Amino acid sequence: MQDNARRQLRQLLGPENFLEEREDCLTYAFDASEGACLPEAVAFPETAEAVSEILAIANTHRIPIVPRGAGSGLTGGAVPLSGGIVMTMNRMNRIISVDTDNLQAIVQPGVITARLHAAVEAKGLFYPPDPASMDICTIGGNLAENAGGMRAVKYGVTKDFVMGLEVVLANGEIIHTGSRCIKDVVGYDLTRLFVGSEGTLGVITRAVLKLLPLPEGKQTLLAAFGAMEAAAQTIADVIKSGIIPTTMEFMDKHCIRAVTQYQDTGLPVDAEAVLLIEVDGTPHAIETGIKRVQAVCTANRALSVDVARDVADQERLWQSRRAIHAALGLVWPRWEEEDIAVPIARVPKMVRRIDDIAKETGAFIVCFGHAGDGNIHVSLAPHDKNTPHEALTQARAAILKDAIALEGRIAAEHGIGLIKRNQIGWNLDAPTLNLMRQIKGLLDPNGILNPGKVFPSTLTCSAPFGH
Ligand SMILES: Cc1cc2nc3c(=O)[nH]c(=O)nc-3n(C[C@H](O)[C@H](O)[C@H](O)COP(=O)(O)OP(=O)(O)OC[C@H]3O[C@@H](n4cnc5c(N)ncnc54)[C@H](O)[C@@H]3O)c2cc1C
Repeated sequence: MQDNARRQLRQLLGPENFLEEREDCLTYAFDASEGACLPEAVAFPETAEAVSEILAIANTHRIPIVPRGAGSGLTGGAVPLSGGIVMTMNRMNRIISVDTDNLQAIVQPGVITARLHAAVEAKGLFYPPDPASMDICTIGGNLAENAGGMRAVKYGVTKDFVMGLEVVLANGEIIHTGSRCIKDVVGYDLTRLFVGSEGTLGVITRAVLKLLPLPEGKQTLLAAFGAMEAAAQTIADVIKSGIIPTTMEFMDKHCIRAVTQYQDTGLPVDAEAVLLIEVDGTPHAIETGIKRVQAVCTANRALSVDVARDVADQERLWQSRRAIHAALGLVWPRWEEEDIAVPIARVPKMVRRIDDIAKETGAFIVCFGHAGDGNIHVSLAPHDKNTPHEALTQARAAILKDAIALEGRIAAEHGIGLIKRNQIGWNLDAPTLNLMRQIKGLLDPNGILNPGKVFPSTLTCSAPFGH
């Protein structure tokens, strides 16, 4: 970074909000994926105007800018591949308003997702997107990744709850997309363009989010199965039965055992797979929904179907789901994760294919995820120290290709980022990918926003961690 740019940024932000020491920069070199790369500085803007001025300086001096929320991303989106500045949004963390008359919240990007849940629920309202990382991740990161979560089966993902955005463009211009109106056809839907753009098109500085009335209640059910396929078939059959549960999560046997080893939450360790299903709504809707789900589980030869006794019991069951990442990390320190989606009715086929791929490649594969919406998380680890890394690479490629063959997607909710940038063309045809490139070129002609992400690239880390 040129000295005069550094001087301008120091003057603009002050020493509190512009860190340049290597020790400070180290903390912002990585996210929750594997890569780590040192930025040259870290900026903490407190207003959209400050974001705008930083971007104007960066654009003039061609300094890469990597927006960052909490760094919980799993695809390297917040890793500063080309050095430059990590722009951390966590000091813009105000819930500006919760509007109970219009069912909306206006928030800054650094708000932690669970904090927004608590704030709106205190007023009898509901913000459904609930990534498993909700205690740490930010709304800005959720918007940029179009994050999903467990409640996506019934309610959808982040994009379904965004009405409008304030975004700062690469040249420093501040734009406003959408509005506070449910019906709004004034111009192109730019809101959807920025949601899921992974920090490559602009920096989100404010969002108008749609809220719902808080459901009256909810009930959780745990069903254990003697075969993975029976669990997968149950998922498809529940949806076919006309019930849309709030969540429908599954774990395979390896996952059940890893979680139990990490924290004994009472999962049936002898089962080949379990489904955790939640139904919400009025007491009548819950009763009818749970009965119908129980019947589908029984018809698919569930070994046991247990309904949570009380709220504490429900929490215990969900705790087991939220513990998966930590549990897998403890049992297999070197695991890699895939995040695919297939149409819901094809989950059983995909699960069968993943089992075959494990046998064909010799990779050790663990499956879990939000299968009720067709999203399967696949964790891969070496079987033992003799398993070549090539086995994992082969297995990952085969999983993506088989998902595509079932009309699925190679990224469901974790984004493309750095990790899948060279596979994006497997899912998108050339003209579509080219149009996306042109949009990027139009909004960020100097390529300063999150370089090396989303699009195929050979760009590697300019300052690997530790060098
Ligand atoms: C244990 C664990 C569980 C997870 N579970 C889920 C899950 O259930 N569902 C799910 O969808 N994801 C999940 N994730 C992934 C991750 O938490 C989400 O992608 C989340 O949305 C990232 O938010 P963040 O604030 O950490 O963003 P970061 O990781 O900091 O950034 C993510 C991307 O967003 C960009 N960005 C951040 N803020 C802005 C902004 N204001 N403007 C423009 N771009 C911005 C960054 O440049 C980067 O490309 C999980 C991760 C972990 C570690």
